[in-house]
Amino acid sequence: MTTSKPSHHSTWNQRQDGAPLVNGHTLTQVAAIAGQTPYYVYDRSRINETVANLRAALPDAIKLHYAIKANPMPALVQHLASLVDGLDVASQRELRVALATGTEPAEISFAGPGKSSGEIEAAVAAGIVVNCESMQQIRQVGAAAEHLGLSARLALRVNPAFELKASGMKMTGGAKPFGIDTEQLADAIALARELGIEPEGLHLFTGSQNLKPEAICEAHSGVMRLAGELIEQHRLTLRFVNIGGGLGIPYFPGEKPLDLEPVAANLASELASFQAIAPKTEIVMELGRYLVGEAGLYVCQVIDKKVSRGTTYLITNGGLHHHLSNSGNFGQVIRKNYPVEATSINPSGETELVTVVGPLCTPLDIVADKVELPRCEVGDLIVVRQSGAYGFSASPQGFLSHPEVVEVFL
Ligand SMILES: *Cc1c(COP(=O)(O)O)cnc(C)c1O
Repeated sequence: MTTSKPSHHSTWNQRQDGAPLVNGHTLTQVAAIAGQTPYYVYDRSRINETVANLRAALPDAIKLHYAIKANPMPALVQHLASLVDGLDVASQRELRVALATGTEPAEISFAGPGKSSGEIEAAVAAGIVVNCESMQQIRQVGAAAEHLGLSARLALRVNPAFELKASGMKMTGGAKPFGIDTEQLADAIALARELGIEPEGLHLFTGSQNLKPEAICEAHSGVMRLAGELIEQHRLTLRFVNIGGGLGIPYFPGEKPLDLEPVAANLASELASFQAIAPKTEIVMELGRYLVGEAGLYVCQVIDKKVSRGTTYLITNGGLHHHLSNSGNFGQVIRKNYPVEATSINPSGETELVTVVGPLCTPLDIVADKVELPRCEVGDLIVVRQSGAYGFSASPQGFLSHPEVVEVFL
């Protein structure tokens, strides 16, 4: 087997000949385990390494949560639960997955701009923290607590007046459906207290997929100072402040892995000022993509090959319906290729410029556009790296009704 070198950034699961290994297994072995191609495979040793590196870099006082929506596969969530300090859920189903791991309910929080009364009752019944994003959600928590005869845990998600710069996705600042504007926070706290519930946390999610340490530092400093001010202004006694995460992973040519050193140094200095105000309040970072994105590969198989007016197409059995974000249709403005490799069965040493597509009858179904890969034939495997987050569960598997992809966790 020969494999093309990944187009950029360092790799971890390489055999000496360059073929990816997933926790010791070749991709052909994984296909046998999956029972098919296409498949997603996630490598637990890589997740262990990421969490260990992150913990080594960050100040000890920073708690880590896993945001399940990045990859909700129950076995993977179970594994992460053993490595991190808590879990963040964004739905009732994720809540059930989180509870099943045995994680302390007080260390599970529930985010989302729209929560039904049923979802909030589930959260209160389970004893997890509801991150309230509106006045109505606070009232719903109060009602659920009364109905169930339980005391409820509530935190307030805050929409600050500033933005996380250079973030892939802007989720704070200005008008937003997420969180409660700082201007309305006094009313929100008063409402919670009227209902007999003292807020036990603040949640300040600031963005996603950020590779710029300066921007992350600015956001962390901004939210930690704001949290300190809000604690003093509203005389809050908080168990935690969740400062979000935003840490990104490299996907595209030219992108480099995030340098954690400045991020950690900045957190350490902000922690010192914050602890002078609120010595007993924990600082939590919640991360999805950063913890699992690099641990996943998406693998599909070449089922046809043809040349159309000078362009060589490899047509595979996988694509957009399994891996929407790789196709460029999940929030990207200009499509760029994820790092893609080919595992050629007939190694000739030759490479060729190809466009890899999926089987769907739509021009949107691109796996990799104009990439140099080893010469492939029908039967060869195409590997998409950086596929552990926002892959399986973020894809429209029903679109065109092709066979579903299988997930393997090794
Ligand atoms: C999506 C989300 C996350 C995870 O974001 P990543 O970019 O995957 O780290 C964390 N917290 C909340 C509230 C989210 O909505």
